Amino acid sequence: MKVSKFGGTSVANAEQIKKVAAIVKADSSRKFVVVSAPGKRFDADKKVTDLLIELANAAIHKENVEEKLKNVVDRYREIAEGLGLDQTICDVIEQDLRIRTLENKSNTELFIDNMKASGEDNNAKLISAYFTSVGMPAQYVNPKTAGLVVNDLPERAQALPEAYDNLSTLRNSSEIIVFPGFFGYTKDGVLRTFERGGSDITGSIVAAAVQADLYENFTDVDSVFCANPRVVNSPVEIEEITYREMRELSYAGFSVFHDEALMPVYKRGIPVCIKNTNNPSAPGTKIVAERKANRRPVTGISADNGFSILYVSKYLMNREIGFGRKLLQILEEEHISYEHTPSGLDDISVIMRSHQLTTEKEMRIIDRVLNELHAEDVHFRHDFSMIVVVGEGMNNSTGLAARAATAISRTGANIEMINQGSSEVSLAFGVHRSNEDKILRELYNEFFAPVTVG
Ligand code: ASP
Repeated sequence: MKVSKFGGTSVANAEQIKKVAAIVKADSSRKFVVVSAPGKRFDADKKVTDLLIELANAAIHKENVEEKLKNVVDRYREIAEGLGLDQTICDVIEQDLRIRTLENKSNTELFIDNMKASGEDNNAKLISAYFTSVGMPAQYVNPKTAGLVVNDLPERAQALPEAYDNLSTLRNSSEIIVFPGFFGYTKDGVLRTFERGGSDITGSIVAAAVQADLYENFTDVDSVFCANPRVVNSPVEIEEITYREMRELSYAGFSVFHDEALMPVYKRGIPVCIKNTNNPSAPGTKIVAERKANRRPVTGISADNGFSILYVSKYLMNREIGFGRKLLQILEEEHISYEHTPSGLDDISVIMRSHQLTTEKEMRIIDRVLNELHAEDVHFRHDFSMIVVVGEGMNNSTGLAARAATAISRTGANIEMINQGSSEVSLAFGVHRSNEDKILRELYNEFFAPVTVG
């Protein structure tokens, strides 16, 4: 039994949805279909989720919502017409959106979550209607009815353990289940969405709950590349990758699969296959618990930007019990999570995602570190990138860090930070944003130059 999740571009228009139906029909073990909201049809297009955010903001600011509402309904109308469905489904969708726009707006986060979620919710209704119309008996299932319970974090909810038990009963359905991605409900019945791109997470939760044999994640590329193809020319395609490797890569820039989506399937050892809706016969990339060793110690290199560094120095910091805790506590109180904390004897850097910072927060943090921790130097630096070299083969291959550092030095860029995770599956370099692309290319040449046989 397979759970098949189709991303935004796979359900962006009628033609794509016909491909989805053909894929599901071709394999009777595809019992569960999880769908995103319609994504971009072409580069300059807007995702329905983004149209919905615009609609929500207009409603919050008491602007006229008619045009924005029409933009959303028109996307579904175009799809429904292309699929030969009658007007009924469009009326259902329009009615649903009108009700959502009239909901209470005193809690704007809650209102926006509810608006955003309609993208996948209505698409699931539409797709299930289409499946049924072409002789594939299907049933739309709402996450509330199915018991996908989540915690109360707006825009980044997480499933609660009982969600898995609740959803496991879906196994008994005789029809194909079409399930909307991206959201669940708190125990009090409040709708909460996952992070952006979070339909992958729903697919993974459903796959774990029904104990699927495979979680298929359909997107618009044949496989996961070992480096960003927009930066590196024709990078190597990855056939097989472990959960740990994928986790490290998707953390820093591999947007093909949401990093939070790995956990549910990983815990139950369910393999994942990333496949292409536009070329379903291509084998795709498999994510598994263990893979055969290949000749390369490195599986992939990712790069992501938008990092800031908080630098703190104080003489004899190493002897001061609790210094690190107190520093991190200040960040905790500002609701900031951190990524790495490389340190020396008398100094420590805390690396975090810049989007969490504001000028006021930075000033408050600097002030507190100076006054409460009596540090000598405290400052923020911005515009950093993280380049992460990932591979299961790295922990028994000597000299790898030296090779990576030498490759970076060839670009003339300065390494601001090096961090090797304890699992030795990854090696992270903090570098200035302006050097990101050339470093990625140089590392790619270092680790993925053609292997000579013999
Ligand atoms: N539609 C949502 C987004 O655009 C979730 C998803 O597609 O996975 O982020």
